[in-house]
Amino acid sequence: MREDARKSRNVEKVALAGATGRVLAEAVVADRDQPPFPRATRDGFACRSEDLKRGDLKAGGGLRVVGQVRAGEAWTLGAIRPGEAVEIMTGAAVPPGADCVVMVEHTSASDSFVSVAAGRELSAGENIVPAGAEARAGDIVVPVGRRLGIAEIAAAAACGGAQLAVFGKPRVAILSTGDELVDVGEKPLLQQIRNSNRYALEAQVLAAGGEAAPGEVVRDDLGATEKAIRRALECDLIVLTGGVSMGKFDFVEQALVALDAEFFFTGVLIQPGKPAVFGKVGGRYFLGLPGNPISTMVTFALFAAPLLRAMGGEDAAGPHFRMARLEEEVRVKTGLTRFLPARVESSVRGARVRRIAWQGSGDLAAAAKANGFVVVPETAEQLAAGEIVTVLEI
Ligand code: AMP
Ligand code: MG
Repeated sequence: MREDARKSRNVEKVALAGATGRVLAEAVVADRDQPPFPRATRDGFACRSEDLKRGDLKAGGGLRVVGQVRAGEAWTLGAIRPGEAVEIMTGAAVPPGADCVVMVEHTSASDSFVSVAAGRELSAGENIVPAGAEARAGDIVVPVGRRLGIAEIAAAAACGGAQLAVFGKPRVAILSTGDELVDVGEKPLLQQIRNSNRYALEAQVLAAGGEAAPGEVVRDDLGATEKAIRRALECDLIVLTGGVSMGKFDFVEQALVALDAEFFFTGVLIQPGKPAVFGKVGGRYFLGLPGNPISTMVTFALFAAPLLRAMGGEDAAGPHFRMARLEEEVRVKTGLTRFLPARVESSVRGARVRRIAWQGSGDLAAAAKANGFVVVPETAEQLAAGEIVTVLEI
């Protein structure tokens, strides 16, 4: 699917400065050896490692300093000869003939001589990165399909990638079903609910590298649902929320059936999120997610986000999980894989996770206190305190 997605995706050129989070459509290739010259990794003196072992030099006045080379400066005075050293700065090109750099902290210099502290003999190559050791000209430094994070941006900059070819973002239709919904700027009546899913989903779409079409609210009506799905076929992925349960006014599945949809699954053994449906309609993927906000969030993270990342050409599979040590025992009923809101705190000693009390899958206040969901496998009745557990990241 990822290969198909890549072939059918538009490719755009973007400036490096705005490329963070995009997926690379053409590999970043080293335009020259990296480093391009043998690079000193310390301030000090470039010299011949052999000389550091010579008794006469140790006993005498040390190595003769024949010049200085700074970062960005070219050394033009020819190869270093036996008994000679060049004062050098971090990032400068090591002059030919020298094969090591003695750290300035390990030397004492007087007039034009430098002595190396006892016991600080170096082997060939120390404190130098040889030319081409990191990458050879023509090597792929960042491959196609990689989402551009900080290191990839830095590597692209080092390769002269001022403009990068990236895949176009998959466009996602977000259809919120429910007669009770009002938008965030409106004043809800007592029995009405603000449409939080629309905004949560827009944020999740963005985080998964997609682009959200203007959100639409769909009334709980079969015809209206069909029409909305038809309009949404201009997008690459259709995400519906609500209306997938067994209620009298849940029309999403019926509307999809009427539109000849193919269903890959109609329900999942998870909680929250059991009624989720997935398939294809009119050549587009759709996901029908339950309307309870935490169900929506969890099922998007489990099913829609990986799909969207793959549709965007990214070479990464699966939802985002992390591991953490559970602070207190968890007990649940078996039969469904459960996702329980939880807070992970990381330190240098590792990650610890504790549950957040909640009133079920409508409890957005609990979700806002959490930063992940502890996964309890369907066969487990209990997770013990101190156990390393899996946490789903939203
Ligand atoms: P449903 O899946 O349509 O049966 O909805 C389940 C619950 O989620 C109900 O309490 C709805 O009011 C709520 N809900 C449905 N859609 C949304 C939405 N877009 N934003 C916030 N809550 C919603
Ligand atoms: Mg509903």
